[in-house]
Amino acid sequence: MMKKIVILGGGVGGTIVANQVARQMGQELRNHELEITVISETSNHVYQPMFLYVAFDQVVPAEAQKPEREILDRHVKFQVGSADRVDRDAKAVIMQDGTKIPYDYLVIATGSRPAPEKIAGLEQGGYIFYTEEGALKLREALHNFQGGRIVVTVGVPHKCPVAPLEFTFMVQEWAKARGLGDKTEVVYTYPIGRLHSLEPVANWAAPVFEERGIESHIFFNPENVDAEKKTITSLEGETLNYDLLVAIPPHTGQEVIGRSGLGDAGNWIATDRHSLRMEGADDIFVLGDATNLPISKAGSTAHFEADVVASNLVNLLRGGLGSVRYDGKVFCFIETGLKNATYIQFDYTHPPKPQEPTEMIHMFKLAYNRMYWLTPAGVL
Ligand SMILES: Cc1cc2nc3c(=O)[nH]c(=O)nc-3n(C[C@H](O)[C@H](O)[C@H](O)COP(=O)(O)OP(=O)(O)OC[C@H]3O[C@@H](n4cnc5c(N)ncnc54)[C@H](O)[C@@H]3O)c2cc1C
Repeated sequence: MMKKIVILGGGVGGTIVANQVARQMGQELRNHELEITVISETSNHVYQPMFLYVAFDQVVPAEAQKPEREILDRHVKFQVGSADRVDRDAKAVIMQDGTKIPYDYLVIATGSRPAPEKIAGLEQGGYIFYTEEGALKLREALHNFQGGRIVVTVGVPHKCPVAPLEFTFMVQEWAKARGLGDKTEVVYTYPIGRLHSLEPVANWAAPVFEERGIESHIFFNPENVDAEKKTITSLEGETLNYDLLVAIPPHTGQEVIGRSGLGDAGNWIATDRHSLRMEGADDIFVLGDATNLPISKAGSTAHFEADVVASNLVNLLRGGLGSVRYDGKVFCFIETGLKNATYIQFDYTHPPKPQEPTEMIHMFKLAYNRMYWLTPAGVL
């Protein structure tokens, strides 16, 4: 009898799983013994890391997207639409238009979303670069910036652990390059008692901040913004003035997870850290930002997890036990300005060790941004 894999989410994680299973089980797909369906709200696949460069007017949003259909293996079905909920009893995804998409195995890769509404007044008084629309508004604000105090504020959890640091380093060099260095102060806030959640990254960043004169405020959980007075106040009661406020707001999982009763209060799904199965479910895998795992929410995380989920799905469908384990591997480049970058690689048992920044690593990051499309296609 035909087996059905439904992949809810056509971002990094979902697309890699679909293409890898399709590649390994081409024969079963051609013989109609297997069907793979990817569901996504958008017909385009979006490479979100490009939004950082959109804000600095280095690329335009069209360079960050491609039709998902072109990336998916031709044997994979693609359904564009919004899923309303997962019905575990019926083993089906229920779309907002009422269509039911049944599954034998479900892969949830719905990602996460920035929740600027969690910081009162932020949408009126600040900018975010985590969406295309936000990055374009920030691009315009930077274009019109004539000097002043730029405050970068961070809420947790959020995807891409290092993007706030990257923006901070980049915006300082950007202001210098525009001849505004003497007139610009860069201020960074972070919610816990150091500059970054990953301790080695915090230890690496502290002397760099000192050397570059970047002011920092730790234990600063952004709570509300007064757009008229141009101030931001933290839960801890500290108020900072700004001329330009750039926020990385806290994130939540997607509402479809909440409506399905699959998540916690933040719509994150309880996931086994090694098998990537949803806790208590044999027929549901979770990967990427959607999990509740205590690791960075990053495209590379979704990529490495997708390798594990795809291997286990193929093995299970062929009668195995699906025992490949995810080891927590994450890889992130870190722009340390406009011309240099470093990187970190870590897993559940090996902490990151930031390397000396070089121009070569920066060039490599830019090259990867162009080559990204080979990743969801399963080539890289
Ligand atoms: C500015 C920025 C910079 C970043 N930089 C980096 C970086 O340098 N390195 C790095 O590794 N990561 C980076 N990231 C993070 C990375 O983009 C995400 O962690 C990654 O995309 C997560 O992959 P995912 O597959 O879990 O979810 P996503 O890629 O977000 O895909 C989610 C999918 O789910 C679909 N979906 C959601 N809800 C529904 C629904 N109800 N119905 C149907 N479909 C639905 C969406 O349409 C989409 O197809 C960055 C992110 C941003 C915003």
